[in-house]
Amino acid sequence: MATEEKYHLNSVEDLPLVNLGKFILDCMREHDPQTVALVEGETGQSYTYKQLIEFVEQAAAGLQKFGVKKDDVICVLAPNNIDYMVAFYGSALLYAVLQPVNPLYTKDDIKRVTEECKTKYLITIPAFLPKVKEALGEDSEIKVITFGEADGYTSFSSLLDPSNVSYTTPEGDPKTCIAALMSSSGTTGFPKAVQISHYNMVSNTIQQRSAKITDASDNFVVFLPLFHAYGLYIITVTVHSIGGKIVLMSKFQPDMYLDLIQKHKPRFLHVVPPIMVMFAKYPKVSEYDLSSVQTIVCGAAPLSKEIESAVKAKLNISNIFQGYGMTEVGVTHLCSNEDFRYKSVGRLLPLVEMKIMNVDTQEECKSNEEGEIWIKGPQVCLGYLNKPEQNAEMFTEDGWTKTGDIGYEDENGFLYIVDRLKELIKYKAMQVAPATLEDILLKHEAVADVGVVGMPDEEAGELPRAYVVKKAGKDITEEELINFVAGQVAPHMKLRGGVEFVNEIQRTASGKILRRTLREKARELAASK
Ligand code: AMP
Repeated sequence: MATEEKYHLNSVEDLPLVNLGKFILDCMREHDPQTVALVEGETGQSYTYKQLIEFVEQAAAGLQKFGVKKDDVICVLAPNNIDYMVAFYGSALLYAVLQPVNPLYTKDDIKRVTEECKTKYLITIPAFLPKVKEALGEDSEIKVITFGEADGYTSFSSLLDPSNVSYTTPEGDPKTCIAALMSSSGTTGFPKAVQISHYNMVSNTIQQRSAKITDASDNFVVFLPLFHAYGLYIITVTVHSIGGKIVLMSKFQPDMYLDLIQKHKPRFLHVVPPIMVMFAKYPKVSEYDLSSVQTIVCGAAPLSKEIESAVKAKLNISNIFQGYGMTEVGVTHLCSNEDFRYKSVGRLLPLVEMKIMNVDTQEECKSNEEGEIWIKGPQVCLGYLNKPEQNAEMFTEDGWTKTGDIGYEDENGFLYIVDRLKELIKYKAMQVAPATLEDILLKHEAVADVGVVGMPDEEAGELPRAYVVKKAGKDITEEELINFVAGQVAPHMKLRGGVEFVNEIQRTASGKILRRTLREKARELAASK
């Protein structure tokens, strides 16, 4: 049974206007201090709520003493670890801004995002120091802190001093102060920094709590990266606000995951579709006792019917639900035990508004008519940092966000996602921006034009595939181009769907790639395999 919810969401006025760090500390102080709040899956190191509260306050004090001020951007380039959330909650208490990034970013990615966000501090692990140094250059003013000890660097743990817990939270407006800058390419173009305010994050946490799916007795084995909204606040902050336990994995490894489920016995699993494929197909699944699991919640990408049925049969569970959300708009829909329709991603959370818009006429659709999903609500971000044009394209003046997803709502308010209008590719639920790959390919001397789209793949969801027009008189192989890209991108961005040479990339009159044609080609190819 879920614990009694203290927030009653009849209107946005019911949402507190509070600093995220203060909100989470207040919530955590109400929990049993001896309950375990965080466990590092691989090492078994754990913090109780009492310890977590102490470390968060020490982190706020230590970071402030180190020089961190309101609005300073703190980049975290690290795999999930037990101190990641300590750093986040601590920086939130100072109204500093967390910028969590993919630890597998290349040095070029690091350079780009730290310049774009005017990063002041960067927390990383010792193993990444060589690439960080190369990315930032000799005269960088960014101060580097390490999770773990490294010669010549301030370690995060050295900032935590039990005798120093005094810090001052500066004056700040939770509605306009940014708690985190998350990366997303949105509906078009390059990855951008999404500004999530304190109010956005606190609101979405409370909105999710109102679904009363989980309670303080629950624990969650989290392989989802903390650099993504799903891992960072949709799960972790929400669970900490309720008083449950988070078991963090630094990266996904099937055996480790299955072992941690067997050991920690969660009732719920929060997964993405590739993990469902693992449950369905990985032979060693049956060697583990997964009988504690009663419900699986799957989100972040489409889930196939076959895989869902296979997992139900294999794990002997009947509850497989979906949720829907997006970095820019938070979680907007959830299913629950009492509220469930097959294939649906659920119903609107309280205080979220949605309309489905006909893509051609821009008129609002009726029930069961397909169109683009538009979202409004207190959890919707403050737009992209320094991108007025993209903001004008994606966010309307009266507060609606155009998600770029196509869906329909049935007469009972259940939403079904049917397609993606936007160019985003999702490889294993991770964002791949075609613009980034096209930009790299166009720098190759043999490439005249290029279009990148997702090719359907059962295990990964989609694989990035490039259609390339060669320059006259130049010769190049598919493999050479795949390797050319692989050397310049984080692993999830590789052209795993291959390269195909074509005579022309069709474009609209305004020069935009006609992606639908390319996507169709990739779909046909995948179906013929
Ligand atoms: P991100 O911002 O990385 O979380 O990606 C958000 C996008 O993931 C959405 O706009 C959808 O395209 C996709 N997505 C999220 N949840 C689902 C779902 N349950 N089914 C299908 N697509 C989803």
